[in-house]
Amino acid sequence: MLVLKFGGTSVADEGAMRQVAEIVATHGGEPDGIVVVLSATSGTTTQLLNIAQLAGSGQAFQEALDNVLARHLHLAQTLVGSTSCIDELCNDCHNYAQAVSELGEWNEATLDGMACFGELLSSTILHQFLCSIGLNSHLVDARSLIATNDDAQHAVVDIDRTTQNCLQSLRSAASLGRINVTQGFIARGYSGRTTTLGRGGSDYSAAIIGACLGAREIQIYTDVSGVYTADPRLVESAHPIAELSFSEMREMASYGAKVLHPDTIIPAVHASIPVRVLNTFRPADSGTLISNSVRAEPNIRSVSLVRDIVVISGHASIAHHLLVHAVLRSRIVYTQQSVNSSMICLHGAVDDDVHHVLQHALTGEAVEQHRACLVVVAGLSTQDLPGIVPVIDALKTQKGRPYLVPLSQHCIGCIVDAEYAESAVIAIHSCITRRQDPA
Ligand code: ASP
Ligand code: MG
Repeated sequence: MLVLKFGGTSVADEGAMRQVAEIVATHGGEPDGIVVVLSATSGTTTQLLNIAQLAGSGQAFQEALDNVLARHLHLAQTLVGSTSCIDELCNDCHNYAQAVSELGEWNEATLDGMACFGELLSSTILHQFLCSIGLNSHLVDARSLIATNDDAQHAVVDIDRTTQNCLQSLRSAASLGRINVTQGFIARGYSGRTTTLGRGGSDYSAAIIGACLGAREIQIYTDVSGVYTADPRLVESAHPIAELSFSEMREMASYGAKVLHPDTIIPAVHASIPVRVLNTFRPADSGTLISNSVRAEPNIRSVSLVRDIVVISGHASIAHHLLVHAVLRSRIVYTQQSVNSSMICLHGAVDDDVHHVLQHALTGEAVEQHRACLVVVAGLSTQDLPGIVPVIDALKTQKGRPYLVPLSQHCIGCIVDAEYAESAVIAIHSCITRRQDPA
C-alpha cells in the first residue's frame, strides 16, 4: 500500500492534473492499492476563506466565487469533456456562500464549511479524469476517514476512530488494487460537521492515512525535487538531499527549511513509514527520503541563511536580562555565556524592545550590537571535528568575520556580517560537493 499526496501546484491546471494521472497510473500495480490524497488547486483555499469572510460581513462575494468555480468548471471541461461531475458541488458551494451572506456573520466553523469545497472539487475532477482514462479509481470522502474533535480550523484527530475508518474503507477485500482518491486537509468532527486540520494540512492527512494503513511509503509530490542542500537561487550547485533523518529534518525546519513541515509527518515517523518528497513535474528525480532508518552520519546536509540577526555582546548579565523578557526570549537563536561576558543572537531587527531592556538593565555597562546573518549548517555537530575542518578551511579566506557556533545536535552555525553572508553560504556549500566527490 502506497500513499501519494499531491499539493496545490500539482493540481493547479490541466497539464499538472495530466501529470498526476501519469504518476498515479505508474503505481497501478500496487497489490493492496494506493491512496491519492489531494490538496485544493493552488490559491483556492485562500480564495474560499476570503469569500466566506466577504459573504459573512455583508460584502459582495459573487464575482470572487464565480472566478473560483469557473476555474474548476474549465478544468473539468478540458479533462473529461463535461462539467457534470462537479455541477452539484458548485451548486452546493454557491448555496453555502449565499447562506453565509444571508446570515450576515461568519466564524471559524463557517470558514471550515467553505474551505472544504477546494479539496472536494480538485479530488472529484481528478477521480473523474482517472476513470475516463480507464483507471480503477474510487472517490472516498476524507470526512468518512479522518475523525476529529469539533475544534474549527485546527481540529484534533481521533486516531482510534480514524484507524478504524481507514481500515474499513481502504483495507477491505473490495478495495484491493484500487486507486482511492481522497481529500487532504478536511475531516469530520464528533458532531458531524466538517472540520479542517490547519493550513497546509494535506501533508498531515497523508501521514495519518499512511500510518493508519501501515503503508510501505508515503510520497509527498510538490513542485521541487525534494529538500535542497541550499537555496538554488543562492547556490548554483545546490541539489536535492538524497536522505535525511527525521531529527535532521526537524532541526533544518526550525531554521527555515520549508518544503515539508516536519510536524505534519510525525504520524508517519512514529509508525516508521518512510516519507519521500518528490517532484510532480520531474517524477524520475529521486527526491528526498526522510526516514528513521537513515544513518545520521555526520556530513553536511544543507546550508541555509537566516538573515536579520542582531548580535549583542558585553557583560555576562546581558543574557540574563534578555532571557527573562518573554518577547525577546522567543527571538533568541543563540546564546554564549562565560563568567565575564555573554553574546546573544536575536532574530529580527534591533527595535525598541531591545533598547528598552538593555538601557534599563545595564546602565553604565558596555554593550556592543551589530547586524549580521546566521548561516545554518545542518548535519554537523561541534563534536564532528573531521567534518568541521573543511568548513574552517573554506571560511579562512572569507570576509565578514565568520564565527562558528554550536546550534543543536545536528546543526552548527556561522555568524557573519550581512554583506558577506551569501559568499559564506557558497563557500560552506562547496564542502558538501567536496566531501561527496570520490577523491
Ligand atoms: N488546501 C489547504 C491549504 O491550502 C491544505 C493543503 O493544501 O495542504 O492550506
Ligand atoms: Mg503544502
